Amino acid sequence: MHLKSLELNGFKSFARKSEFIFDVPIIAIVGPNGSGKSNIVESIRFVLGEQSVKSMRGKTGSDLIFKGSNSISKMSRASVNIVFDNTDRVFHLHHHNNAKINIDFNEVVISREVFADGGNKYKINGHEVRMKDVHELIASVNIGTSGHHIISQGEADRYLNANIKDRRELIEEALGLKVYQYRLKESLRKLDRSEKNMRESEMLRRELAPHLRFLKRQVDKIEKAKHLRTDLAESYKIYFSKEDYLIRDITESIESEKTILNERFSAVNTFLSSHQNPDNVSVYTEEKQIIEKKSFIEGWQEKISLNTRELGKIEGMISLLEKQELDSKKPVENKTKKHPGFSYDQVKNFFIKITKSLNLLKIENIDAIVSDIKSELDVFVKIENATVERNIVDNSIEITELNRKKQILIDATTEAQNYIAELSIDISKFDAELLQKRSAERESQKHYYEHVAVKKELEGKKELLAEKIHSLNGRITSRNEEYNEAVVLIGESEIQYQQTLVDEDNAITEITQEQSRRLLERSKIRLEDMGGGSGIETLKEYEDTMKRDEFLAKEITDITETIESLHSVITDLKQTLNTEFDAGVKKINVQFDKFFKLMFGGGDAELVSSLVKKRSKKRVEGEQLELIEDEENKEKEYGIDIKVKLPRKKITDLEMLSGGERSLTSIALLFALSQVNPPPFLVLDETDAALDEANSQRYGDMVEQLSKYSQLIVVTHNRETMSRAQTLFGVTLGRDDASTMLSLRLEDAEKYAK
Ligand code: ATP
Repeated sequence: MHLKSLELNGFKSFARKSEFIFDVPIIAIVGPNGSGKSNIVESIRFVLGEQSVKSMRGKTGSDLIFKGSNSISKMSRASVNIVFDNTDRVFHLHHHNNAKINIDFNEVVISREVFADGGNKYKINGHEVRMKDVHELIASVNIGTSGHHIISQGEADRYLNANIKDRRELIEEALGLKVYQYRLKESLRKLDRSEKNMRESEMLRRELAPHLRFLKRQVDKIEKAKHLRTDLAESYKIYFSKEDYLIRDITESIESEKTILNERFSAVNTFLSSHQNPDNVSVYTEEKQIIEKKSFIEGWQEKISLNTRELGKIEGMISLLEKQELDSKKPVENKTKKHPGFSYDQVKNFFIKITKSLNLLKIENIDAIVSDIKSELDVFVKIENATVERNIVDNSIEITELNRKKQILIDATTEAQNYIAELSIDISKFDAELLQKRSAERESQKHYYEHVAVKKELEGKKELLAEKIHSLNGRITSRNEEYNEAVVLIGESEIQYQQTLVDEDNAITEITQEQSRRLLERSKIRLEDMGGGSGIETLKEYEDTMKRDEFLAKEITDITETIESLHSVITDLKQTLNTEFDAGVKKINVQFDKFFKLMFGGGDAELVSSLVKKRSKKRVEGEQLELIEDEENKEKEYGIDIKVKLPRKKITDLEMLSGGERSLTSIALLFALSQVNPPPFLVLDETDAALDEANSQRYGDMVEQLSKYSQLIVVTHNRETMSRAQTLFGVTLGRDDASTMLSLRLEDAEKYAK
């Protein structure tokens, strides 16, 4: 693989299209100062994707376009094509995703255009590509963008000028270890990004944690509430079934009680309205009769007593008259013969006998008594008849009259007594009847008041019943309120129940219901405290948050794995880099020392690894800032130091070298690097500027030696160097201020030598 040609069109001073054919190992570009030689070098940088306009001595992209002159107008675009030989197919494109880029050709053409607005266009074999693709393509043939293979004017000693850290980087690049460095940087970048992601994920997860915990508690609560609600729904079903059952039962019992009560009421009312108040005591005829009869008896008794008195008087008079008669018939001499008259005792006995008979007078033996009284009277008359009359006094008429009167009285008395007897019988008859009536009356009175009492009792019962109805209604209202509350709390469908739930064997009582009610109330309050609603949103949020947390956890695990693998990749890369670098440095040192000895005719030169002292700013007491050693930084970094020992001199410090010595050392190192890892081509812009003749000779030798491995394009004013080239291009600046290229022979070229 080598450079075949370079074509500039509108690039910097090359207003016209100029093509350089590079088909030899050493090409020299010669020409007067300011003719545009360095522009050619820069065009190579440009076409290979140089990003820094400054490194091409411009401020903006448009500075790379021909600016115009007196005779040529300014251009709107600059383009550079570079053609590589690819017969050995060393170019590679791994990562391109543009299937159109086909590099399976003997030539690979890279083109770049820059426009006035600074825009760029890249092409590989005529296909527009991204800058990245160009970078990748040239990286595959050990040409980096940093251009260790293009040493611009005055850049030869950049290895010497660089600090030990940057020097190491330059050397790494020259050794082709840039790819490891790139991968390392990429890995470190990935690591950094992963760690950032990790921190972010961890932070997000940490931030999420309290919310998740909160949601978990909510969800637990919701679950609990759900169970509680289910339990409550079941309890409600049973409770309401029982309550309904109880209400029905009470209603029925009230209804039947009402019916019975009404029946009894109407019965008692019927009775009471059909019966008079028994307080008005009735007066019976019997009573009047009895009074009347009694007064009759009294009348008769009065008559009897009058009669008795009259009878006494009559009897007295009779006695008197009879005595008179008796006394008048008594003889005066013979008194014995003479009727002695009736003694008092005789008369008294007579009366007693008669009275006795009369007292015994009764209807049935009245005849016997009358005849008794007659015979007594006969006896009494015989006695008187037997008496001797002397001045006889006859009172018989009066006596008879009196006796008649007497008899009338006796008869009347007897009659009165008979009446009294009859009346007494009547009275006792009426008494009996009255007694019967009174007892009947008392009986009915008792019955009436019994009904009154029953009515009172029924009224009391009615009141009680009314209370029962009232309390039943209250119960129904409460039940409906409870039901509505339950519907609100749990949902109607959840508490749908069937009456069959009631186990009638289990006694449902007011007490058990009250207990149930209290338990329900407690559960209800607990449920309400837990917060209503089904919590669907919270559950959803919990689920989402959970998922997010799981996602983050998974991500953290993934990132941890990534970080671990990155660490191991980094460790491996560093190790590889170090190993390869150390090996590379060893190889360079062999060449460096060789070239150094060649240049200086002796001495020693060596690249040595040296610890990079890191310094960091740290705040120390007060406002004073001080640079102190950062001891915390564990990983030590090594740079590359250059140790040289000039022959016959004790100088080892680079700073103390002369310009020429410095230049020689730079060239020795540059060539050593190129020798160890030869680039396909090497551009050296006046690297030989500071060399004296003897050294120019040596330089020329080295160039020749190097050209065995790398194609060399040298911009030079040095005759010796020119003499080593197989092709010489002369560059001049015309009157039109545009560079012109012409192929030269050595003799012609020598006029540009200093
Ligand atoms: P030396 O031998 O002194 O190093 P050189 O041959 O390398 O000189 P360059 O530095 O390549 O010369 O060219 C510089 C010339 O290119 C200058 O004359 C400058 O004006 C010209 N130039 C640079 N950029 C442009 C541009 N955009 N348009 C026109 N001319 C330009």
